[in-house]
Amino acid sequence: MAQNIIVKSRIRLSDFDPAEDFGLRKEKTRAATHRLLERIGGLQAKLYANTRRAVLVVMQGMDAAGKDGAAKSLLEFVNPAGVEVTDFKAPSSEELSHDFLWRVHHAVPRYGRIGVFNRSHYEDVLVVRVMKLAGKEVWAPRFEQINRFELNLHQAGYVQLKFYLHISREEQAERLRARLADPSKNWKFEGADLDMRERWPEFMTAYEEAINRCSPKHARWHIIPADKKWVRDHLIAQQVCAAMEEMELAWPKPREDLSKYRVK
Ligand code: AMP
Ligand code: MG
Repeated sequence: MAQNIIVKSRIRLSDFDPAEDFGLRKEKTRAATHRLLERIGGLQAKLYANTRRAVLVVMQGMDAAGKDGAAKSLLEFVNPAGVEVTDFKAPSSEELSHDFLWRVHHAVPRYGRIGVFNRSHYEDVLVVRVMKLAGKEVWAPRFEQINRFELNLHQAGYVQLKFYLHISREEQAERLRARLADPSKNWKFEGADLDMRERWPEFMTAYEEAINRCSPKHARWHIIPADKKWVRDHLIAQQVCAAMEEMELAWPKPREDLSKYRVK
């Protein structure tokens, strides 16, 4: 069912319905998500004991696409000690005085951890391109630079899952209006969000190119229909659970012969 959300060949975002629910029923699906998240919690316990592997989850999407909510859901049953979450904001002057991957590499999780990037190195070919923060001669070579970086991580033992949270422009309007109207959400609203909303088609072009150029077997993009939060959370849980099961994580062998010990 979820197979076609994994980007294995050239895609067009307009072919994906942000409100897709694959005919799933909400309550049953929520219960199934709960079970998947518990399984992820169990798998993470094994990952935590592993010193050569780690998982990196990248969340990308327009403002209000649900990146925070998706991360919160995914991590519901994992031990916080085994998680490293990083929000990427506009780069500081120190970050800007390095190559764009410097801050990203620094935030890559330690072995044994699940890392979640809320935004990522992809901003450097998305917002930077659309808002013209740098010229094409700067951002265009980055697709290949990103591919090399992610290959490096793969070879170093990282399992990478990249999720593009696909919301409709209408759903974004609803959510931004809620941020203006609801005092508990006011803090999330930024005037700049509206400038970016105005450039929706340019962002879609930029996302499409990033997704199409940077989805190798070892670091696939997943197009997550995200207008419905319960669908979003279910698909992400499914993908992460499957990827972690594929790692065939085993408890590490004791470093010494334990049979010689007796606890008195
Ligand atoms: P938020 O995710 O709502 O907290 O907003 C973070 C803001 O930082 C967004 O507007 C991003 O586009 C922006 N941002 C993240 N990474 C970069 C980057 N590399 N260059 C410029 N802006 C960025
Ligand atoms: Mg924001």
